[in-house]
Amino acid sequence: GSPEGGGSNESDRQRDAALRPKLLREVIGQKKVANRLQIAVNAAKKLKEPLGHILFDGPPGLGKTTFATVLPNELGSSIQMTSGPALSKPADMLPFLTNLEYGSILFIDEIHRMPRVVEEFIYPAMEDFRIDIVLGEGVNARTINMKLKPFTLIGATTRSGMLSGPMRDRFKMQEHLDYYTIDELAQIVSINAKKLALPMAPEAAVELAQRSRGTPRVANSRLYWVRSYHAGHPAIADGPVTLDISRQALDMQEVDRDGLDKQDRRYLETLIDVFGGGPTGVEAIAATMNIASDTLTDEIEPYLLREQFIVRSPRGRIATPRAFELLGKSQPKPNGG
Ligand code: ADP
Repeated sequence: GSPEGGGSNESDRQRDAALRPKLLREVIGQKKVANRLQIAVNAAKKLKEPLGHILFDGPPGLGKTTFATVLPNELGSSIQMTSGPALSKPADMLPFLTNLEYGSILFIDEIHRMPRVVEEFIYPAMEDFRIDIVLGEGVNARTINMKLKPFTLIGATTRSGMLSGPMRDRFKMQEHLDYYTIDELAQIVSINAKKLALPMAPEAAVELAQRSRGTPRVANSRLYWVRSYHAGHPAIADGPVTLDISRQALDMQEVDRDGLDKQDRRYLETLIDVFGGGPTGVEAIAATMNIASDTLTDEIEPYLLREQFIVRSPRGRIATPRAFELLGKSQPKPNGG
């Protein structure tokens, strides 16, 4: 994914790690999810049992990894991290499974991209904390049963719909993360500005929040840009980041005033200019934009749907009056005019 869409690249990942909350009470927003997790943590500690397996789903950059990394701090346990695409065969799981400690966490990002064979291999690990390892091949093959330390599997996915039913059922908690309010994002920006020792006016933090498409990762990446812009201008670098400075910095990066980014706009332009506003299948939009349709459905569309720039219909995507208005286009009459 791209930083614009909320997906992450290498520098994003380093920033994410630097700015990530360490404890549940430092996590902003997602209150219901945080409260349920707090109860589960308290119960696990009190009952001296490992936490049940947890699945987080939601668009990129909303805090799935954050929640996963906060939990071992709360529990006083350790975490190992891997991802679906890195696990191409059952043997790829072995180093992680054999390194488990009692109550430790195994985090699998993009768990929907784990192949079926690996998925089936970890069912008994999740259910009974044991695995069946097949040694040798053909008539010489034998199965060894290995016991594991009781542990917690945490899965993260941008598409819970792509996870098989049996896999989903093995998670005790399934938590959906949603986009953040401006208020919550502004809090995150202010806290992170402090972490970066960057003095910032509250209005400047709100401005950043409004232009971060509901996504903390995007807000962080905007914050880093504003910080560079501020530091790179000797005339202003000594004072705090004001509303004006944050506006100039974001305008320079061509970040929309209404929070959409370049890809969001391109999507709406394609839907309206090429397809007359729809209905159009997502594959056609993806092919025209020369972008993977997964990126559209996982990263771009969820925000446009939520903000009601588009709607989904059985015949495809349709641009709403709001989208036409945003692009300054008039909407064609329903009967061809
Ligand atoms: P995901 O795993 O869903 O793609 P991350 O957990 O990596 O997203 O979140 C990206 C960054 O956004 C984190 O490093 C953190 O700085 C920030 N972030 C995400 N959620 C929150 C939150 N609820 N409170 C504070 N910061 C957050």
